Amino acid sequence: MKIYLNGDLVDKEKAVVSVFDHGLLYGDGVFEGIRLYDGCVFKLNEHLERLEYSAKAILLELPMNRLQLMDAVCDTCRANNLSNGYIRLVVTRGVGHLGLTPDGCGPPSVIIIADDIQLYPENLYENGLKIISVPTRRINASALPPAVKSLNYLNNILAKIEAKKVGFQEALMLNDKGEIAECTGDNVFVLSKGVLFTPPLDAGSLRGITRAAVMDIASELSIPCREQALTRYDLWTAEECFLTGTAAEVIPCVEVDHREVGNGQPGVMTQRFIAKFRENVREDGVKL
Ligand code: PMP
Repeated sequence: MKIYLNGDLVDKEKAVVSVFDHGLLYGDGVFEGIRLYDGCVFKLNEHLERLEYSAKAILLELPMNRLQLMDAVCDTCRANNLSNGYIRLVVTRGVGHLGLTPDGCGPPSVIIIADDIQLYPENLYENGLKIISVPTRRINASALPPAVKSLNYLNNILAKIEAKKVGFQEALMLNDKGEIAECTGDNVFVLSKGVLFTPPLDAGSLRGITRAAVMDIASELSIPCREQALTRYDLWTAEECFLTGTAAEVIPCVEVDHREVGNGQPGVMTQRFIAKFRENVREDGVKL
């Protein structure tokens, strides 16, 4: 396997970074998870835009422009003869001293890994996922905007551990007002009386690329979609619920906090979203 590391495609065994890299020492950096479907890098432009915004928000100057990053992503997929897979693009603050300050750090390290992806098993797309809300709250936007896709995922990792410890595969994370923020790596949608709802970004949700793709599908299907603050009650009483994310795509959720969503089966509209999303993924991106 070839890994892109600071301008070179190197063997996996040689793809190493310094222990003084602030990405390792402090989680100081940003990243994207991107999908490759039949030789088409899905929504690559949108992912790179989000990476640029994340980097700007943490005052990290990307060492490559959009086109250079695009080429590097495509080159990495080609070098691995991949036509389907998952791409992890990471930019860290780079090598520095042991102190927190990024002064003297750099240049930023750019890492691109293109590999197979471990999806949820297909039966969960047919039967739906059960989720549970957990005590760990989504980080407050005034501490670190959740819109920044940074290398600091401890908040989400703790939530995931809490869900797993009580037998669930995914955790529902609330913000400090008790509103729904998102799941640990996915955005949340519910369908209620024919209207699709998802929490607004200021509730603590990442501006998901899949979330945006689903909103586009809603408009194609003439289903009204609103960004609105949601509580657990709204999920418990919804007719349908699903999660969206690059790795999970669109996955039905059939139980929230031990309450069946709707009749406890993946919803009819959810299945339409899944089908339409799967139809679109080969068209909406950059071809290798
Ligand atoms: N929320 C979080 C916390 C995430 O890490 C992700 C990405 N895995 C998402 C939502 C979904 O975003 P996207 O659709 O861009 O993958």
